[in-house]
Amino acid sequence: MKIGFIGTGNMGAPMAANLAAAGHTVTAFDVAVSSQPDGLKAASSAAQAASDQDVVFTMLPNGEIVRAVAAEIVPAMASASPGAVFVDCSTIDVQSARAVAALAVENGLQALDAPVSGGVLGSTAGTLTFMVGGENEAFEKVKPLFDIMGQKAVLCGPTGNGQAAKICNNMISGASIAVLSEAFVLADKLGLDRSAMFNVVSTSSGSSWPLLNMCPAPGVGAPSPGDNNYKPGFSADLMLKDLRLSQQAAQDVDADTPMGKRACELYEEFVERGDGSGMDVTAIILAHEKRGRRADS
Ligand code: NAD
Repeated sequence: MKIGFIGTGNMGAPMAANLAAAGHTVTAFDVAVSSQPDGLKAASSAAQAASDQDVVFTMLPNGEIVRAVAAEIVPAMASASPGAVFVDCSTIDVQSARAVAALAVENGLQALDAPVSGGVLGSTAGTLTFMVGGENEAFEKVKPLFDIMGQKAVLCGPTGNGQAAKICNNMISGASIAVLSEAFVLADKLGLDRSAMFNVVSTSSGSSWPLLNMCPAPGVGAPSPGDNNYKPGFSADLMLKDLRLSQQAAQDVDADTPMGKRACELYEEFVERGDGSGMDVTAIILAHEKRGRRADS
């Protein structure tokens, strides 16, 4: 296929490179990248990258930027290749996802929101999970490309539902990592060895994907960022972004999410007023280790 790819940062560059390596013709654009990875054709603007393509992907920082880029590329796509598919893989707010998809459809294009999980490692290895919102016809057309970049693509319903799945998942994992971290610190203070605690919890009702795959306590469980001075991995900054998106969505639809709200406050404290920026999401255990419960600690 002829593919446009806009936003070749940490995630986008390996995704685009994997598509090119599989034999597709990929034209890429990024405001801050002057030389694109091998195998990609470099465009001089987003509109140029998007023009005359079968599918155009965007992988951008936030909803505001996705809206601005969509306003630029939709007319270019519509005039050169009516019926082409616009696929936004960024993690953004549900409302922006629905707005850019509506703009694309109004202009005779197809649109999917397809945020990912799996991080830079998954992006490089081609093992991402895509959570997709949109029409089945567009999903089927793009599925072979999702299969190159990832190991799983799930159609979650209409436009915006990919983002909904992503922020619900990350609200669960953010709250889980925070409570896991505080539980290890409580265990320390009770004199319970961390390995013993892991051995029990990993096969008990408190077990979870974060415990088994990214245990905040270093030296315990599978190798994790904690074993590498909390170098990300998935950064605490990105978790804060996703938790904020979950709380914005909860506000918009009047959903009661007290655990998600508290997790968001904890990551705000850690990233913006603590040492968390640039560290892995599981480094929040360090903040719990520093704090006690009493006002004087
Ligand atoms: P990044 O900052 O490395 O890449 C974003 C790129 O977009 C940058 O290279 C930037 O120059 C480019 N860009 C910004 N404005 C642009 C514009 N107007 N036109 C063209 N290019 C523009 O970020 P990333 O880590 O690649 O993340 C991208 C998206 O994926 C984000 O929405 C993020 O939340 C999501 N995500 C990231 C991870 C991760 O582990 N990094 C995991 C899952 C999802």
